[in-house]
Parts: sequence; structure tokens; C-alpha cells
Amino acid sequence: MAEIKPFEIARETLKQLTEKKLPPTPVNYQRIYNEVAGTPNMTPFPEEALRKIAEALPVKNPGQEKQRGLLTYAIGQWNWNGVQSALMAYGGFSPLAETGPASAVAAPMTSASSVTPAVAVGSAVANATAPALTSEFFELIARLVQNMQPALGKDDARFVEQLEGLLAALRKPGANVLELKSQLTNFSHRLSFAAEEQAETRATLLKLLHLIIKNIGELSLDDRWLKGQVDALLTASAPPLTLRRLDDVERRLKDVIFKQTDAKGRALEAQEQMRQMLLVFIERLSQMAESTSTYHGKMEEATKLLEQAHTLQDITPVLTDLIRATRSMTNDALSSRDELKAMREKSLLIEAELAKLHQELDRVSAMARHDTLTGALNRKGLDEAFERELANVQRKEVPLCVSLLDIDNFKALNDSKGHDVGDVALKHLATVARECMRPQDTLARYGGEEFVILLPDTVLESGIEAMTRLQRELTKRFFLSGTEKVLITFSAGVAQLAPGETGAEATRRADQAMYLAKRAGKNRVLGA
Ligand code: GH3
Ligand code: MG
Ligand code: MG
Repeated sequence: MAEIKPFEIARETLKQLTEKKLPPTPVNYQRIYNEVAGTPNMTPFPEEALRKIAEALPVKNPGQEKQRGLLTYAIGQWNWNGVQSALMAYGGFSPLAETGPASAVAAPMTSASSVTPAVAVGSAVANATAPALTSEFFELIARLVQNMQPALGKDDARFVEQLEGLLAALRKPGANVLELKSQLTNFSHRLSFAAEEQAETRATLLKLLHLIIKNIGELSLDDRWLKGQVDALLTASAPPLTLRRLDDVERRLKDVIFKQTDAKGRALEAQEQMRQMLLVFIERLSQMAESTSTYHGKMEEATKLLEQAHTLQDITPVLTDLIRATRSMTNDALSSRDELKAMREKSLLIEAELAKLHQELDRVSAMARHDTLTGALNRKGLDEAFERELANVQRKEVPLCVSLLDIDNFKALNDSKGHDVGDVALKHLATVARECMRPQDTLARYGGEEFVILLPDTVLESGIEAMTRLQRELTKRFFLSGTEKVLITFSAGVAQLAPGETGAEATRRADQAMYLAKRAGKNRVLGA
């Protein structure tokens, strides 16, 4: 038989390694090489001795049982690294994935079982059912740590430093588990302080907000309209704090500021008119004083002339002058009196107008059921309508939908075209809504540019359809600002009243859906 050439032995060895699916370790290579070459195996793998050790290993839990199985498998494979990994895992020292042995061990495990990769990092003796810690697992912890960072802010420099150190350690290849354990323990300790501090900061901020709102309320005690708004703000800013609630507070606060400015503007206008009148009054007074002193002068002069007069011819021109002066003075006085009377009437009118303005604001706040600008129901009117509809739902067991809509980019419209145009837009929306909805539907102005529509006898799907119809109608019907055509859109959420749900709860769900519609890009209707 011809002698086999070394390169042929090498090739055959590699072929057999692949066929037998043996790990390409030096030990295996040498064993197969010796078999192919027909040479005795010089460095035998102590398979029998190791098997005996494996069999003698006590098994106290399923984890250890698994590792003993892996050990036996590795022995059968003549795989030293596999033996090492299985023994380490058996003893609680999990080998790392990057270092070959773990992957060698992991291969049969994944096919043999579906153990979830969970490991108690803080424990020196690993969870018995847990397989090896993988870099994926460390990356998961790193991401968890990273994701919590925005919630804790960057104010505490030491905390940020610690966090970054931990992230780097978690992402370092071949990380040391024990070192990581101590780092994680320190971090968790500091984290608990940082989290407590954040919670306290939030609570304090909320208290501060309450204080500010209360102060606004106290400053405007005489204004019942503002009082109503402030009460609503206090409710909206009560804990628990959510982003949605804060957004609500912001919108309401803007509303208060806007209406306060509006009322202030109108009061200032009236005040300016009063000031102008006062100026005219003072001017008239000085004119009267002037004409009186001229008259006195004339009287003195006439007295002197009369003393010197001897004949009737001398007296006649003096008397004529005197009569003219007296008449002119009387005329001056009369016209001043008329002007003052007119001014007094005007001031009474302004006073009445101011009182009416206050009354109007009062009406909007507490008494009235309708919003004066749009003619839609106000919050109070809506509450009453809700009561009626809920009674109907209970009596007849019919569905009810609540829709909440909010005009898109209304602030931008106000800013670019002025508040008057904004007001026209609100009226326009109310008009189109009234024309487009059924007579039994209820339209209410819920806030600045938010409206609620109650749709009796309507299931969710039809409610969404009705709102989509209104949306389409609104995109067809513009209104004019001067000669410019203005189109408005809205975002809406629709909720069908669930059994046992209150009107407020359903409205809150509709509000949340509306908020989602905003976040999804506006100009859309979403069901809750
Ligand atoms: P978004 O579409 O995201 O809701 O943005 P937006 O600009 O519509 O919403 P935002 O809440 O920022 O602005 C609402 C504005 O509505 C602010 C406030 O000044 C204005 N507003 C509230 N009530 C009235 C009102 O009666 N008349 C007018 N003209 N504007 C009002
Ligand atoms: Mg709004
Ligand atoms: Mg809006």
C-alpha cells in the first residue's frame, strides 16, 4: 500500500472532523490525524477518568443536572473547553459567551432545551436554572440603565459619571461578573437617591404651580369668571401628574391669560374714553372762568363809563355793550352746561357698558349655559346635557358617543391673522358643526378651541364616521379673512360610553384619543 502523503492526511483529517461534527480543537485534530495516519495516539483524552468524575458529581437541582449533561457531552466530544465551561457553570461561575467554550456548550443546549437566559447578576452562586451570561444580556442591562437616564436628568454630575462608568463596563468585551456586581450595587444605591429626589422635585413643582394658580385666583377675587377658570386649573393640576394633565393645565392657563388680556383690553378702552371726557371737562371749566373774568372786566369798565356819563347818548352805547357782554356770557355758560350734560350722559353710558361687560363675563362663567362667542353650550350646559343623555342611555339602553375635537394649529392662526380672525374661526366651526350634525346631537365649547359633541343613539363606528364627515365638510367650507380664504382642520377622539362609565370618564377617553390624533400628525379622527 502506497504511503499516504502528509497533506492528504491533513485533508482527510479536516474532512473527518467536519463529518463527525467535532469541534476543531488541537486535541481532536491530533486524534483524528493519528487515526488517519495509523499512528498511535500519543496524547489520549482522559475520557474514562472524566466520565467517572462526571458521574460522581452530585446533582441537587435541575441546573446542575443540565451542566452535568453538558459535561458528559463535552467529554464525549473530547472538548476540553466544553468540559471547563460545564464545570464552571456547575459551580456557579458562568463562563462568558465570547470565550469560545460558552458557545461550544451553548450549541447543544439550545437544541436540547428552551431554558430562558436569566441570571442573577448580584449573586456569586448563579441561579441554578440559568445558562451562561451572554454579552446580549449585559447589553440588555446597559440599555435598561441608558433608558432610565432621561427620567433622572443630568444635574447630579457624580451620578452621571457613575452611570457612564457602568455602561462602559457592561459593554466591555469579557466583562468580569464580580466587578460588575459591585458596580451595579453601587449604582442601584445611588439610583434610589436620585429617583427619590426626582419624585420630590416633581411634587414640589406641583405645589408651586398650585400656589401660583391660587394667587392668581386671590388677585382676581372680584372676578367670578376668573374664579371659575382658576378652580378648573386647580383640579387639573392635582396629582398624579401626567404629561396629558400638564398639557391640559398649560392650555387652560393660556385660555385664562388670553381672556384676561381681552377683558383688560376692553376695560382699558373704556377708561381711555373717560380720560378724554375729563380733559374736555377741564377745558370747558377754564373757558368758563375766562369768559367770567372778561365779563367782570366789561362790568368794571361800564361802571366807570356810567359814572362819567351825563347824557342819555353817553349811557346808550355803554348799556348796549353791557347787554352784549351779558348775553355772550350767558351763551357761554349755557353751551358749557349742555356740553357737560352730554358728557355726563356719555359717562353713564360707558359705565353701563362696563357693567354689561362684567355681567357678560359672569354669565359665561357661572350662570349661562351657552358660550357667548359661538352660541354652543358651555361647560355647565354640557354637564346638564350629559345628565339628560345618560338618563336616556339607562332608560332605553341605547349607545352614546362622546367626541372631543380640538382645532389644529389655532395659536398659529391667532398669531398670524389676529384674535378677531381666530374668533371668526371658532364661530365658523360651530356653524358648520351645527349644520352638519343631527338635531339631537349636542355641541358644546369645552375649552378655548376645543368642542365636545354628544352623539346619542350612536355606536363608536358611526360616531367616527360622523366626525369624519364634519372634518370633510370643514375642508370644503372656508371663511374669509379680508379677501383671503381660510381653512381650518381639527383632530378628534371619539369614545362610546361603556357600561357603568360616567360622562367625565368617557370624555377623558375621547380626550386621550384626540391627543393621540394630534401626536399622529393632526387632522384626523381616532376612536378610543
Ligand atoms: P394644536 O393643534 O396642537 O392643538 O395647537 P394649537 O395651536 O391649536 O393649540 P394651543 O393650545 O397651543 O393654542 C390654542 C390657542 O387658542 C391659544 C389661545 O390663545 C387660543 N384661544 C383660546 N380661546 C380663544 C378664543 O376665544 N378666541 C381666540 N381667538 N383664541 C382663543
Ligand atoms: Mg387646544
Ligand atoms: Mg389646538
